[in-house]
Amino acid sequence: MTTNAQEFARARGAMPGGVNSPVRAFGSVHETPRFFVSASGPYVTDVEGREYVDLVGSWGPAILGHAHPAVVKAVQDAAAHGLGFGASTPGETELAELIAGRVARDGVTAPVERVRLVSTGTEATMTAIRLARGATGRDLIVKFAGHYHGHSDGLLAEAGSGVATLAMPGSAGVPAPIAAQTLVIRYNDLDAVREVFAARGDDIAAVIVEAAPANMGIVPPAHGFNAALADIAHAHGALLILDEVLTGFRVGPAGWYGIDPVPFSPDLITFGKVVGGGLPLAALGGSAALMELLAPLGPVYQAGTLSGNPLAVAAGRATLDHLDADAYARIDAAATTIADAAASALSEAGVTHVVQRSGNLFSIQFADTPPVDYDTVKAQEAFRYAPFFRAMLAQGVSLPPSVFEAWFVSSAHDDAAVARIVAALPAAARAAGEA
Ligand code: PMP
Repeated sequence: MTTNAQEFARARGAMPGGVNSPVRAFGSVHETPRFFVSASGPYVTDVEGREYVDLVGSWGPAILGHAHPAVVKAVQDAAAHGLGFGASTPGETELAELIAGRVARDGVTAPVERVRLVSTGTEATMTAIRLARGATGRDLIVKFAGHYHGHSDGLLAEAGSGVATLAMPGSAGVPAPIAAQTLVIRYNDLDAVREVFAARGDDIAAVIVEAAPANMGIVPPAHGFNAALADIAHAHGALLILDEVLTGFRVGPAGWYGIDPVPFSPDLITFGKVVGGGLPLAALGGSAALMELLAPLGPVYQAGTLSGNPLAVAAGRATLDHLDADAYARIDAAATTIADAAASALSEAGVTHVVQRSGNLFSIQFADTPPVDYDTVKAQEAFRYAPFFRAMLAQGVSLPPSVFEAWFVSSAHDDAAVARIVAALPAAARAAGEA
């Protein structure tokens, strides 16, 4: 049998850092990355045959648990009929209709009339931005520090997720004139939004925002923040792009859009992760008028060899079909139990912390007051996370390998899985306290 360490050594000779996405290298938690060979329900198994309760959930898609039988069957059936045609399939229309139908709120015009399917969240946000620029004839984009919208050139400035984990201000290789098209401002700060629009409002195509930020740990939007953002953007003729790649279909049937305490009207919404059920699929949606500016009807070009791939569409449809009220109730209940247990364990161990939540998404932060933006997130005692993470891993719980990531619970996290997590927390909290 091979070991994780052997696999990592070999991988490093074949791929930069031994990985195909930076956070997987476990750098900030000073631990050998685990190489997984299988997964089922709430569990993942590594090459050494060790099983872990999983709270990464493939970074979001595994909301029904791993290898959910209905999703696996849908993919198998689709595969038997052909892996892809580079032409349209009825399933794509069905998934697009499913997305548009779900993203709705009583008393508010549904924001998604047309959908385009792409393969990654990065493509979804990149396309939304091109569309906003094409629609407005303006170039500037406003984004918030600590928010992550994928790795396209214009969106890496002060980005969250892996960019935050590696403490990078942005990325080399982004030309300065492109970076200059993105204005980065403080999150949860409406004065900053008003200022940037007062100064550059005529040139701003769109403001892009994580519906409820989860890539700097969980930092909930202030009450009414998204609605105020929409109002300010619209008053200046700019669009609001709501990034629900992570929150979409996870925090509720209509994503964060459906549960934000103050209803608001985004112009474009991006989806990913859950909508592809674990296969490469993402999407963007908006009004017919806006979306039909995309080629072939309009002047904004976007395309993809694998867009709307039948296997990914089948996985997405099966996943959305099984995300009923009961599934959300189970996810919410498990999230509450785990979040509360983490807070109690840290309190018991005398570790300064807050557990912030946005719906069923949560993360722990080693701070004495709840962080509200990227600066306050970065001011926490982040060094306490590595020993916490390692203690959980040693006890068979796989957490996201960074304090800047959300914990992903699935509907497969039953009492037994939750009990294993809860039992592991006290030792991890003590390890965090000793750091
Ligand atoms: N937007 C958000 C809010 C995300 O969380 C992510 C990925 N974590 C992305 C965009 C990019 O998606 P992908 O990794 O599929 O390109």
